[in-house]
Amino acid sequence: MKLLVAPGFNFSCSRCGHCCNSYPVPLTALDLERLQSAEGGQPIPVRRLTSEPGLSQSFKAVLLKGDDGFCNYFEGSAGSSRCLLQDTAKPQMCRLFPFTFLHAPDGILSGLSFSSTAVCLNFGEPLTSQTATLEQMLSLFEELNPGLKDKTKAEFSRLTLAADLPLSFDLYLPLQKTMEEELWQIMGRKQRAIALQALALLFGNLREMADNYGGIAPQPGEVWFDLALIETYLACFFSEREEGSLSLEEQLINQLTIFSQERQLPMPLTARLQSASLDLPASVLLEDLFARFACMRLFARLYFGPGFSGLSLTAGLGHLFLMLLVAYLRVKLDYVEALENGIEMSEEALFETAVRRIRQVEGKWTSLRYGSREAINMLELAFLDGLRPLRLLDLAL
Ligand code: SF4
Repeated sequence: MKLLVAPGFNFSCSRCGHCCNSYPVPLTALDLERLQSAEGGQPIPVRRLTSEPGLSQSFKAVLLKGDDGFCNYFEGSAGSSRCLLQDTAKPQMCRLFPFTFLHAPDGILSGLSFSSTAVCLNFGEPLTSQTATLEQMLSLFEELNPGLKDKTKAEFSRLTLAADLPLSFDLYLPLQKTMEEELWQIMGRKQRAIALQALALLFGNLREMADNYGGIAPQPGEVWFDLALIETYLACFFSEREEGSLSLEEQLINQLTIFSQERQLPMPLTARLQSASLDLPASVLLEDLFARFACMRLFARLYFGPGFSGLSLTAGLGHLFLMLLVAYLRVKLDYVEALENGIEMSEEALFETAVRRIRQVEGKWTSLRYGSREAINMLELAFLDGLRPLRLLDLAL
């Protein structure tokens, strides 16, 4: 089957050691079995993820880290680090990192995770010239996930354009190609928040199409919910502490439920941004990073349907926009906080901050699964409103 590779992306491991530090390591059921057997049957410290039968994604738990933020199997420091596990016992995420694969009827999508610092920096050899490495990784992926490729391909026959609006693969494919082409064209442009603007417009077009197709009147959303979404996602994605045994999905739902009941929102983060009303300095590096992040998720189809939580194409695109938006807002907050402390960030410092924040979003997003019906409905409802991303963009810029 044809391996589909995105142009314009590079990767070679820069040996920074960051991937074993700070970020969650999602585990499949097989990973847990392998780890347990390597540890002589001892229980493995993990946090269980909410899951639902029928979703192709198979992560069941997240490996808990030590107090220093490092994985318990990590030894050494940057430049002289090593994993204490044998290759065969390592979680598949570690063995495959940062490569991702998704089996679709028209080919196998290969992608890269932006949890990798080297990927964020676009460091190394072009992906398009690494066919042998990609094929090797693909065969490892298939070996570690028996049966997944058939299941994923089958799920492409059950796509939805929006909640309860079925979308055949033949109709979906040209839509995906058009969105990719439009987003691709923005790479390298110098306008501020160009990737966010492009995604907001793409979302508006898709939503209009869904409304026409379903014969439903456009659904205007409520503005208080725009703020609630931003505040919730910012707080949960950038929380420095673990919320007990609650998964990220549970934290998001809990927080949004509280906002819905009270409608009196303490908005510490967005209020700060609005009162600061500062623009991030223009930076080609920063725009390129955000554009590549958006393009890669879109190309690798890791944002909807079989690629992410079974969301409809419309809600998946809205969610992709939301993830990029919270990363952008977090960078802006970092910039504002530095200024308040009398520090003017150089372009390099701003870029380093953006890389850290993008990695944080990607890391949490990878282990996040909207497994419950409640969570999926919440997102489908949130993105019934075709103007929501444009309003959110107004708040961010
Ligand atoms: S299991 Fe090994 S490779 Fe994976 S995060 Fe832990 S130390 Fe790193």
